[in-house]
Order: sequence, then structure tokens, then C-alpha cells
Amino acid sequence: MVGEEQFLRKHFQDFYKNNFIAGPPELGAREFGYGVFGRKIANRNLAFASQKDFNMFLRNQTPFFMSYSSALYKFPSRRPMKAKELFAADLVYEFDADDLPTDCKQKHDSWECPKCGKKGKGRQVKCDDCGTQTKLDEWFCPECLGVAKKKIFLLLEFLEKDFGFNEGIRINFSGRAGYHIHVRSEKVRQLPRIARLELIDYLTANGLNIFSHFRKEETFFSCPGIEGKAGWPKRILEELVRLLEEGDVENIAVMGNISVPEAKRLVKKRKTILDSIKERSTIPSIFGRVSSTGESKSDKFWQNFLNSIVAKIAPIDRQTSVDLNKIVRVPETLHGETGFVSRELSRDELKEFNPFDDALAFKGNETVRVFIPKAPIIYLAGQNFGPFDEKEEELPLNAGIFLLASGRAKLVGNK
Ligand SMILES: [Zn+2]
Ligand SMILES: [Zn+2]
Repeated sequence: MVGEEQFLRKHFQDFYKNNFIAGPPELGAREFGYGVFGRKIANRNLAFASQKDFNMFLRNQTPFFMSYSSALYKFPSRRPMKAKELFAADLVYEFDADDLPTDCKQKHDSWECPKCGKKGKGRQVKCDDCGTQTKLDEWFCPECLGVAKKKIFLLLEFLEKDFGFNEGIRINFSGRAGYHIHVRSEKVRQLPRIARLELIDYLTANGLNIFSHFRKEETFFSCPGIEGKAGWPKRILEELVRLLEEGDVENIAVMGNISVPEAKRLVKKRKTILDSIKERSTIPSIFGRVSSTGESKSDKFWQNFLNSIVAKIAPIDRQTSVDLNKIVRVPETLHGETGFVSRELSRDELKEFNPFDDALAFKGNETVRVFIPKAPIIYLAGQNFGPFDEKEEELPLNAGIFLLASGRAKLVGNK
């Protein structure tokens, strides 16, 4: 792989020669780490005294990945961790499209069974025939990133409306399939780990008893008033109203765990249900009478439906890290698996942002000849490439680097 690595390094170096990277705020108090070809973090415990030093490092060493600590330290390069003397830490949330279930994965991902050789589309982890763990070929596309984006906007709403964090919020594209949100206001920087965990509990509705807000009465559920106060109950109610108004039968069937004909019946009655919610703050029984003893079909449906709403509108999942010492991609540096620039984005920029157009690092008309064993259709800068199956092709530099960096292509000839 030496040829590919050298080729990428040369172009990464050109990028760092042509672009001055500002780096994170309070650069001198950050710990840095860098990665090499095929490995995101090969070394950490680095520190830089100035932006100039930092850029010298990028030009001379040309790392494939460059990360920095969300924490600020008195002595960022000291080891072990404790000796660094942490005095503040940004709050960071990461979103990765790889972790989100999206329909497009059926199109661009595939699997193969290492035991019996069976193949298929999508992200299937076990073979149909023999149950062996499959080998996955995973990709990402504008559609997956769109789902991650929606989560970002949801989280921003929680941060601002529920927590009142209005200052120092920055959004960053990770350089591959995700986004990071950084909160750098003084309000949050001193929060200990345990408080950060409590924020996650709130964001995931962990410990929230929905059914104290949507209470079962004799023949109906009571619900918060439509003009009610902020927070989870209001969000759940708004989403409930939205879903009923939308009337997507299949979605309602899945979310409430009922059959499609049953969901159709419900949608036919939705005006009555919506009137009842809006005018009387009650959710009526829909599948026959609700008994006061035991659970009826209506009870089960509403419980499933409300729980599904919570899962759907929770902006993050429980796996979210609260590690104060973690390091994340430096804004505006290159990602060594894509060659994309990890752009810092305003909220307005995020709305329109598509890395396959807006995070491209290399200008000019240079092309590169590569051999691609297998790849789905790839959109880049207004053009579709592929699909590829054991194919040699001359590609524009950004597309070539995208495939070479992720190990999906080999250089052809001597460059
Ligand atoms: Zn198999
Ligand atoms: Zn996708």
C-alpha cells in the first residue's frame, strides 16, 4: 500500500501548504493526537504553543487525521492524563450516520458470508443460511448524512430550549459520515462527568415516566394541554398531533404495533381524535371500549405509539460518550479515510451542507487512474461515478482520493 499512502500524503501536504488551519480556540491548552494511513489515532499527548507551530506540524508531518481534546489542560502534553491538570472541558456530542438505521443502507451496503459465500444487499450482520457473522461492506451517502443532520437540529433545539445553552455552540462535519456539536460556554465547561451524564439522561428521556403525563383514565388517556409548558410532554404531544395529521398509515402501524387495516381505521377517525386532544386534553379509545381493568387493545396501542415517539424524538442515544478526555477531529483538517475537509458550519450552512459537494479539498483538473474492485454509485461534485466491479478508471482527484483513502481502490501506473 506504499504507493497509495505516498500519493495521498503528497496531496494532503499540498493541501496544508495551501491552507492555513486556525485550529480550535485556546489551542495552547489542548491536547492533540494524530493518525496515520489506516489508523485514526496513532499518537497523542502533543501540544502546540501557537497556530504557526500547529501549521508547521501539519505541513511537515502531514498526518492523515488530526484530533484535539475537548478538554483544556494546564499541561496538555504531560502524561499520564492526571498530570495534564484539566481545568475545563467543552461539551461534545457526536453523531455518526453509520449508527443510524436508514433505508439507503439497503442500496449502498452489502454483506457476504465468509463461511458459505452467500451475498446480499443492506447491513445484515448474520447470514440467512448458516447464521455466521457476515463481512459488511459499509458506505455512506447524502441520505444517511441527512438523517444525522435531522438529529443535530433536534439536539440544538433541546440544548437551547430545554437547557438554555445559547452561546458558544459550534457545529462540525467530522470529515466522514458524521457531525459533532461543541458547546463552549462557561456555563457548561465546568460541569463534572456526573452532570454530563444527567444531561444524557434527559436527552434520552431515561427515567422519564411518560404515563404520568399521558395518564390512563377510565375510558381514555388524559394528556397535557396543547398550550402546555415546554419539555418532553409538550414535545411528545406535538409529535403525536403531527403524526395523526400526517396520517401515514404504515408508519402508524409500525409505531403502534398494529395491523395496516387497523391503522387505516384509526386514520379515518383522526379528526375526532385530534379534536379531543386539542379541545379536551384527552386521547379517546379507538379500538372499542377501554376497560378499566386490564389492558385493552387501545391501551396497548397508545402505549406503544407514545414510546415510539419518545425513541424517535430523542436526539441522542445512551451510548453517547461523556469522556472528558476524548479527542475529536480538528475543524478544517482532512479526514484520512475520505480526503474530505472537516468543515465548521453555521446552522444555516448545515441546512444546505452536503460533504460530497461542500467538503471537497482538492481543486483543479487533475485526475488519477485507479482500479476499483467493488463500489456502489458514488455522487461527487455534481457527477455520479460507478457502480464499479473490478474496474479500472480515470477519476477526478477528489473522487480518486475518496476511494483510495478508504482502501476501496488501488493506484494504477506510477504517479
Ligand atoms: Zn452463510
Ligand atoms: Zn446512505
